Amino acid sequence: MLRTRFAPSPTGYLHVGGLRTALYSYLIAKQVGGKFLLRIEDTDRERFVADGTENILKSLYWAGIMPDEGVAMKGDEIKQVGDKGPYIQSERLDIYKKYAQELLDNGHAYYCFCTTERLEELRNYQQKNKLPTGYDGACLKIDPKEAKKRIDGGEKHVVRLKMPKEGETTFNDLIRGEVTFKNALVDDQVLVKSAGFPTYHLAVVGDDHLMDITHVVRGEEWISSTPKHIQLYKYFGWQAPEFAHLPLLLNPDKSKLSKRQGDVAVADYEKKGYLPEALVNFVALLGWNPGGERELFTLEELVKEFSLEKVSKAGAVFNLEKLDWFNRE
Ligand code: GLU
Repeated sequence: MLRTRFAPSPTGYLHVGGLRTALYSYLIAKQVGGKFLLRIEDTDRERFVADGTENILKSLYWAGIMPDEGVAMKGDEIKQVGDKGPYIQSERLDIYKKYAQELLDNGHAYYCFCTTERLEELRNYQQKNKLPTGYDGACLKIDPKEAKKRIDGGEKHVVRLKMPKEGETTFNDLIRGEVTFKNALVDDQVLVKSAGFPTYHLAVVGDDHLMDITHVVRGEEWISSTPKHIQLYKYFGWQAPEFAHLPLLLNPDKSKLSKRQGDVAVADYEKKGYLPEALVNFVALLGWNPGGERELFTLEELVKEFSLEKVSKAGAVFNLEKLDWFNRE
């Protein structure tokens, strides 16, 4: 069964780009009788916003995009539905701990004791000398027994992915086709932060696997993380899902869509009186080209007509006049 998910971080409102990601994930699941899940990725405690989850859910429900499984709403109440939960990452910490330990035990991850100051110095040096930035693997040399002693002694540490330094990682992106990264340029990503919290990278791979996600649809900004995720799938011996990275949303001047040039929150459009049908139709066509003249689609029609193969690689311009046109129609 095809299973997709929308996995927002509750750092604030639902962005129109997030609405498009959720919509595309929803459409490809619905058109084949699959399931659309909602998972809350709240491992970044510094950017956590208390009512973020509620805001995101309310905007999604307003747009008519309701999850079949995961974090959902019943009236005003947030609940979790399904047998693969919990679907909120801060309730899954034991799972990530177990996976981090498995990687450490198999030599696929290592403890790193580098201080923020050292990492900053390293970065400055790399930038000054026009070298690729990234961790230099200094702590790879530390014997695991020695590392254990230092940890028992209370030394601050993180856990890093041991990325192979030779070869390449290739995957087939459903929008971009074959994408290849040189492993030597992929960073030894932090998987567990010093406070013991997992990073997005460890949590997303574990969860997508355990929740049987078959298709990961997400923004282009995550594409450079995908080789790290694929390496994690290999280390765990799991099959990686299919990936589709959506093009960026742009302002009319082709800069990345930002708050400075207008509203980006779905809730702002709702407040201004835009119809959910108009906003959904509008974001559906940001990057997706159905071919032909037709532009007006209801959500049910989108379920029938949408295909990822017709999503462009190039950034899509967010044109407010066009949204107004849809709203009038
Ligand atoms: N939590 C990530 C975000 O908010 C999800 C990225 C993904 O879909 O893998 O963008």
